[in-house]
Amino acid sequence: MRHRHDHPRRPDHAPPDAPGRGGKRRGKRLFEYGELRLLILTMIADQPRHGYEIIKAIEDRFDGIYSPSPGVIYPALSWLEDMGYALLQPDGSGRKRARITDEGLAFLTANRAAADDLMTRRMPHGPRGNAPRPIVQAMDDIKAALRQRLAEAPSDPALVAALADRLQAAARDIATTPVTPTSPDIPDERHPMDQIITRHRHELKRRTLTVRETSYLTPHMIRIVLESDDLSDFVSLGADDHIKLFFGPEGDQMRDYTPRAYDTDDRSLVLDFAVHDAGPATAWAVQAKPGDTLRIGGPRGSAVVAPVFDWYLLIGDETALPAIGRRIEDLAAGTQVLSLVAVPGEEDEQTFQTAATWHASWIHRPIEAAADPAPLLTAAQALDLPEGRGFVWIAAEARVAKALKHHFLNDRGHPGPELKAAGYWVAGTAGESDKSLE
Ligand SMILES: Cc1cc2nc3c(=O)[nH]c(=O)nc-3n(C[C@H](O)[C@H](O)[C@H](O)COP(=O)(O)OP(=O)(O)OC[C@H]3O[C@@H](n4cnc5c(N)ncnc54)[C@H](O)[C@@H]3O)c2cc1C
Repeated sequence: MRHRHDHPRRPDHAPPDAPGRGGKRRGKRLFEYGELRLLILTMIADQPRHGYEIIKAIEDRFDGIYSPSPGVIYPALSWLEDMGYALLQPDGSGRKRARITDEGLAFLTANRAAADDLMTRRMPHGPRGNAPRPIVQAMDDIKAALRQRLAEAPSDPALVAALADRLQAAARDIATTPVTPTSPDIPDERHPMDQIITRHRHELKRRTLTVRETSYLTPHMIRIVLESDDLSDFVSLGADDHIKLFFGPEGDQMRDYTPRAYDTDDRSLVLDFAVHDAGPATAWAVQAKPGDTLRIGGPRGSAVVAPVFDWYLLIGDETALPAIGRRIEDLAAGTQVLSLVAVPGEEDEQTFQTAATWHASWIHRPIEAAADPAPLLTAAQALDLPEGRGFVWIAAEARVAKALKHHFLNDRGHPGPELKAAGYWVAGTAGESDKSLE
């Protein structure tokens, strides 16, 4: 009998199961371990790959419905190496690339029929499969429609761009669709929080970007547009996502910044830098000029807030303005959004285009007073909040953010899960933030 949880390094020369052999039921797992090893072997016979490239290739092969975790791929690779079927060679980037050996090729040839079966295996449909039938059907329909349209004009760049746009819009829509749709017939319906704030992991990627242009958006905000072909697969789904900027000769001085906007077609990314007492990030932004380079990493993940709230309150200082602007622009018609932002003066206020109904309040105080909670706290205490369910988002200096969080949770009794607060910087400490404010 095969062991479902056999140790990955256990020597095992047995060929993988042939399809349907012995009438064994597969349950919810699409592949057993032995089969997964054979599948990986097939993938690296095609071309040498890193572990995460194998995961990606398998995901693509199975239309994203099946995604093996690194916890099964890496042990399987070690097993293939132990058996002499694969070589794991460092590629200079600190990672190892798996390449098939002659022995591995011989093993693959001996198990060709089983390997071919794996490559054509479909996710079991129906209630016991991982993907519900309507989803599989919809994906098949999309593929068929795409094939048909691309066959009409295979090299028409306008058609390709338009179709890619539609698909990306659908992907964004899918990422933010609550599991239970809002129903106007059930006004008191409460969505569980894990369906409202969904977390999405992204492949961690480092990129070196080139400055395309810089400008002062306002007297205390520098906007820098960066470009690189590497941005073609940049993804940031959440308004308050952050990337790491690397400074210093070793790149060991890291600072967090919000992707204010990005365009994968144009291969560009926009960052807004608040101007204050210069640390390496601010100093770089102040003197940046076209042609300069900037190393970035991430975003590592996105927390997407589903559009299920009646109102949103966004509070912060200059460093929060990029995330606040992004969220205001993203909100849909019919939503109320209130912003309360502290900046040095009237000329530092910004306007955003939005379909939502936006009420802006601005507080003026000098940058030197940015770590004093009083100005924002006093204004927050005076706010009249709309009826209905609201989401409160706060980002400022850590002590300021903490005082604001305390006010909404303790003085106003706002539900904790429906509030997100972060210290975007810590007064007197370079390169420090406090994202949880515990
Ligand atoms: C998730 C996240 C997203 C962020 N997004 C943005 C963004 O899009 N744009 C942006 O401008 N900032 C953003 N910040 C804040 C930014 O990372 C910090 O302000 C960072 O400290 C600036 O780096 P620096 O090298 O200029 O200064 P540092 O070397 O970190 O600090 C030097 C000195 O300046 C002080 N200081 C840091 N920030 C400020 C400030 N705003 N005002 C006054 N004194 C300050 C420090 O306390 C320290 O004493 C974000 C932070 C987080 C955590």
